[in-house]
Amino acid sequence: MKREQETVNLMDLEEGRMRSFFEWLGEKPFRAQQVLKWIYHQGVTDFDEMTNLSLALREKLKAVAVIEPPRILSEQQSADGTVKWLMGFGGGNAVETVFIPEPNRGTLCISSQVGCALNCTFCSTGAQGFNRNLETGEIIGQVWQAARALGHERNGTRRITNIVLMGMGEPLANFNPVVRAISLMRNDLGFGFAAKRVTLSTAGLVPGIDRLRETIDVALAVSLHAPDDETRVKLVPLNRKYPISELMRACRDFVSEKHKRTVTFEYTLIDGVNDHPDQARKLVKLLRRVPSKLNLIPFNPFPGTEYRCSPDSRILEFQSIVMKGGLIATVRKTRGEDIDAACGQLVGKVLDRTRRSRTLREQT
Ligand code: SAH
Repeated sequence: MKREQETVNLMDLEEGRMRSFFEWLGEKPFRAQQVLKWIYHQGVTDFDEMTNLSLALREKLKAVAVIEPPRILSEQQSADGTVKWLMGFGGGNAVETVFIPEPNRGTLCISSQVGCALNCTFCSTGAQGFNRNLETGEIIGQVWQAARALGHERNGTRRITNIVLMGMGEPLANFNPVVRAISLMRNDLGFGFAAKRVTLSTAGLVPGIDRLRETIDVALAVSLHAPDDETRVKLVPLNRKYPISELMRACRDFVSEKHKRTVTFEYTLIDGVNDHPDQARKLVKLLRRVPSKLNLIPFNPFPGTEYRCSPDSRILEFQSIVMKGGLIATVRKTRGEDIDAACGQLVGKVLDRTRRSRTLREQT
C-alpha cells in the first residue's frame, strides 16, 4: 500500500520555509508571499478562497497541505475588558492566551509550551508540570485567532499593538518554533509588528539569550525576582544552573548588540521573601550597569500556594527606593483577576508528563 504523505500545516512555515515549500512543489517562490498574505492579512484558511492561485495549484495544495490554527475552546471576558481564551491543539492539550486592553494600547499575551518544565515555585503554570512544546503554527495561530476574534484591523486601527511571550511556558526552551513564530509576527507579510512591540520573556536561560541576540530582533524581558542567588534559587530553580552574574553578562551583551535597546526586568513582589528594603537597595546596585527598566509585579496568589502578595505600602516603598537609586520602575496593574487571567495564573490543560513520571518514580 502506498504510504500516505504527511500533511504540512502551512502555519508552521515562516517566509523562508514557505518559499522552500513552494520550490519543492515545483512552483515559483512568490507564491509563498501570496499565501502568507491570504493567511495573515485576509485571515483565510481555505485554499478555495485564494483566488489569485490557479485551480490546479489550489488542488495541488489541498493534497499536501492544510492551514490549521488552534481551536478556540472557550472565551471569557473580564469586567475590565481583558479577554482570555483557551486554545486547543487536539489530544487534550490546551494553553491560554490573554488580551489586555489599555487606553493607548492592546497587549496580547501568548503561550509557548503546554505547561512548563522550570518549576518556578511562585507560578501556577510551573506547579502543573510540562507536557510538550508548541509548534510554530500553534504559537502564531494564537495571534491569528485573537486577531480574528477581536476584529484586529477593522476600521483601520489595530487593536493588538503589542505581543508578549509571557503566557504559559519558557519560550527559550522551545527556541526554533518560537523564533519562527516571532518572524511571522514581525514580517510585513505576516502581522507586521515592530521589534520593540514583540517581547520575549525568559526565566533566564542564558545560552538561549545569547542565541536569541544572534538570531532575531525582538525585545527582551527577564524574570529576575531577586537581587541575590540565595533568594533567587528558591523562586527560580533554574538559577542553580545559570546564576545571576552569568544572567547579567548575557543581558549586557544583548543590549550592547542592540544599541538603544533596554532589557525589562520583571520582579514579582512576594511578602517576606523578596520585598525587603535591603533587597531593593541590592537590586539598585545590580541593575545600575545594565540599560534596563524594572517591572514590579504584585504576586498573584493561586490555589495551593503559600506565598502572599506584599502589602501595598511595601510595594510603594520598594518602588521608591529603586527609583531614588536611579532605576526606572513601574508597578504592573493586575488585570483580569475575575477570570483568573492575571500573571502566573494561566493554567490551560496540561497532561503532565513530568509530574506523572516523578510520581511513578516515587511509587517504585
Ligand atoms: N517563562 C517565562 C514567561 C512566562 S511567566 C518567564 O519566566 O519569564 C511571565 C511572567 O509572570 C514572569 O515574569 C513570571 O515570573 C511572572 N509570574 C509567574 N507567576 C506569577 C504570579 N503568581 N504572580 C505574579 N507574577 C507571576
